[in-house]
Amino acid sequence: MSRKIFESRQKLLLKRKIHSLMKPYDILVPTHLAIETTNMCNGKCIFCPHNIMTRSLGVMNMELFRKIINDAKTIGSVEFITHGGMGEPLFDKSIAKRIATEKSKLNCRVQLHTNGSLLDKDNIQKLFEVGLDVLSISLNAFNDHTYKDITGLDYKKTRQNVENAFEMKEKTQADTKIRITMVKTNDMPPEETENFRDYWRAFTPNVAVHPSKNWAYFTKNEIKGRKYPCKWIWYMMSINWDGKVNLCHEDFDARFVIGDLTKETIVGVFNCDKIRTIRRSFYENGKSLPILCNDCSRLKLDKFWWLGVNVNELPNGYKKYSERFHGGTF
Ligand code: SF4
Repeated sequence: MSRKIFESRQKLLLKRKIHSLMKPYDILVPTHLAIETTNMCNGKCIFCPHNIMTRSLGVMNMELFRKIINDAKTIGSVEFITHGGMGEPLFDKSIAKRIATEKSKLNCRVQLHTNGSLLDKDNIQKLFEVGLDVLSISLNAFNDHTYKDITGLDYKKTRQNVENAFEMKEKTQADTKIRITMVKTNDMPPEETENFRDYWRAFTPNVAVHPSKNWAYFTKNEIKGRKYPCKWIWYMMSINWDGKVNLCHEDFDARFVIGDLTKETIVGVFNCDKIRTIRRSFYENGKSLPILCNDCSRLKLDKFWWLGVNVNELPNGYKKYSERFHGGTF
């Protein structure tokens, strides 16, 4: 068999497998909640649309937070929670308390995305104590001046915070995994990413350099290549600090709100007409998608998720997608 025929057969098999995994007519429940407990941020990262976001700034109130967690507990499907969204979660003074609640009520894995600038020893200790599973720190540069240009923050201070976190993890034998990440911008010299990897790999094997994404409609999609159906709308719910639910976390300015958890339930929002129509569009032909999906750089990246996912039915008849590998990042 020629290589060309082999490759086209592989593509066809993958297409069929993905198609068989899409369940647009079932009642789906999320396994992943992305909870933005605040959208306030002190960073000015050049690849982030925070500075053009028109949503009002705030912090999720505890009443709403408890409502969401109680609702999730009733459904029993949530395996993973991430905190980040459009804000720096350490601006939320209750973040450790919330993580403790999530861990005790839902027994799920929790990941926190931070820029590290507010990660003082007190915060590190609290996060370790409540059993945070993954502390993901976006450093985004290696040198002082590059860091300042890219994030607007003070590198020496942030680097010290991060090194303190490693030291305290070692000392306390905390189970929290520390991840160090960087977004590679177009004009970044290769030595910046190489030095970054070399330096942080001395502390942890969990070092990742990602290409810059386009936030659906913030910049032009520069990631070319084959597209796969979006994975996020099948298993992840993106909740803003005010309870509004976006189609996905790419919708930084909540232009495509699908529901409001101050008044609705997780199951109701996750199966509303808006999102079901989009699931059907992906299932049928990938046409008639909303404008934010049309040129989203996420689509190209979703192949591996589809290859490692299962669909399970819960005792109440709802279906959920479970990842066999909790990469736990987006
Ligand atoms: S294609 Fe992009 S914008 Fe559309 S739902 Fe998926 S991640 Fe969001």
